[in-house]
Amino acid sequence: MDVAAAAVRKARDLGATVAGFVPAQQLNDCPSARGAGPPGFCARTGSVLVLGLYHDPDRPEMDWWEEGASTPGDRMLQQIAEELRRWLGAVHGVDARVLPYQIQDGGIYLKDAAVMAGLGYIGRNNLVIVPGFGASIRFRALWVDLEVPLPDAGRRPAFCEECPAPCQTACPMHAFVDGRYHRAECLERIDVNKKTARGERRSTDHCRVCELVCPAK
Ligand code: SF4
Ligand code: SF4
Repeated sequence: MDVAAAAVRKARDLGATVAGFVPAQQLNDCPSARGAGPPGFCARTGSVLVLGLYHDPDRPEMDWWEEGASTPGDRMLQQIAEELRRWLGAVHGVDARVLPYQIQDGGIYLKDAAVMAGLGYIGRNNLVIVPGFGASIRFRALWVDLEVPLPDAGRRPAFCEECPAPCQTACPMHAFVDGRYHRAECLERIDVNKKTARGERRSTDHCRVCELVCPAK
């Protein structure tokens, strides 16, 4: 039986919008690892199952971040991942481990993993664009004790290369001044969002401009 294919189907049954595997070893030297340092989780064997969940812009509360509790959407992804972990063990006798979100907590570069698993491509907004769902997909992942072939990674299509890039021109922090994403400027905005939310004692409603103006589907 093809356990990997069954796991992808099961992920969808549990509520994931998309799911796909990539050999775990491939992520140890992914583009973000080369640029920003090694991931928190490295494995020489097994694979990583990447789960994506559509965050409907009409349900902005899925993205509201709460101190110490992540976001409602992320908690849904964690639950799907945990149920998949149990199912892989109980039904197929396959070990799996849900990976933390943050690199410093032992996580992986999720956007790289999603692209390398063939789920989408990195748009000029520096977000993963998943065909059919655009840039409004959030990710989580599990390490799974299964060897899988390397899928074809997603490539940016001509549509995005030729687009007038409202994602870049509309950024309130000018984080794309030279056409490349500058993390420091974006993080500055995130910090302001968090401080404002704390001052008003509410969940943080992060900037999503570069996601929401993107016409890609
Ligand atoms: S999230 Fe907001 S501040 Fe960050 S790059 Fe996108 S538009 Fe700019
Ligand atoms: S707004 Fe245009 S350039 Fe930016 S990511 Fe979307 S399709 Fe690509």
